[in-house]
Amino acid sequence: MTKTIKIIQPDDWHVHLREGEMLKQVTKCTSRVNKRCIAMPNTNIPITTSKLALEYKKIIKENSFNKNFDPLIPCYLTENLKLEDFRLGLEKNIFIGGKLYPTNATTNSEFGVHNIKSIYPVLEIIENKKKVLLVHGEKIRNNIDIFDREKYFIDEDLVKIRHDFPNLKIVLEHVSSSYGVDFVNSNNNIAGTITPHHMMLTKKDVFSNNTINPHHFCMPVVKTENDLISIRNAACNNNSKFFLGTDSAPHHVDQKHPNLSTKAGIFSASISIELYAQIFEEEGCLDKFEKFSSINGPKFYNLPINNNHIILSKEDWEVPNYLEKDEIKIKNFFGGKKLSWKLNEVNYS
Ligand SMILES: [Zn+2]
Repeated sequence: MTKTIKIIQPDDWHVHLREGEMLKQVTKCTSRVNKRCIAMPNTNIPITTSKLALEYKKIIKENSFNKNFDPLIPCYLTENLKLEDFRLGLEKNIFIGGKLYPTNATTNSEFGVHNIKSIYPVLEIIENKKKVLLVHGEKIRNNIDIFDREKYFIDEDLVKIRHDFPNLKIVLEHVSSSYGVDFVNSNNNIAGTITPHHMMLTKKDVFSNNTINPHHFCMPVVKTENDLISIRNAACNNNSKFFLGTDSAPHHVDQKHPNLSTKAGIFSASISIELYAQIFEEEGCLDKFEKFSSINGPKFYNLPINNNHIILSKEDWEVPNYLEKDEIKIKNFFGGKKLSWKLNEVNYS
């Protein structure tokens, strides 16, 4: 029986570190295990300029668990972005790329993009600079069911973007459906991040008896058993197009309600690597874990693979219910449940 696993230090290619006191606590969790992260720019004032990105990067680094932690920031794309600042930001590697939020798709996305055509000049810049377009792939419209938002976004917007910018590198973030997995698999220059919760939960874990479990509610919402299986297959079978992105998205417990007025987001940063290890073990694919956690991401982003390693050991332990410090209280995903892997050692040098 395997007692420990040693893998190249991973990166989290999709995480929300928020602001203020919350940032201080959750950044420690993410930087404890990862070498790099993509810190999403949907802060209260979205990160739309290189000045804001540099400030955010500095705050994150100041609050990191180790000084070598490297936060990468995509620019929050809007319909009236300052193109010259954006172009320079990409050239100077202040931005890793651009993040497309369709209007009102998730937390702080009211400044996002309504009409994709209006940001074509921005997409042209990203394509020319060989950077990456990161996409929250959900189409929001009254007549579109919450479970079909990813499919509609792909059919109505992503297909067009793919066609009009064939060399543009795209990441379909937090792939949540078998339809999304199939699209990534059957198109060039596109990859997908996969969260632990989309491999562990189905809609039954969120919606029951006219109430919802707010701690399992996220955007895109978790879907059916078939979708879950398809996402697990994408992650666990040596497929270079998929990599680790927790979409860990903390909210204070006061903002979590058992109805649809709740804030969307699942907080997994405190146990993310252990959750992924457990899933890969369940699938009998621990030997493919490192490729997903530490190799596919940097390869797609054209960045070096990390030098350091981490070690996880086989050990049953119970996840605390909350991350709690001073006025901050966040529900841990999997809180109160047992995990069978524990982060044991990280070489930060
Ligand atoms: Zn996200």
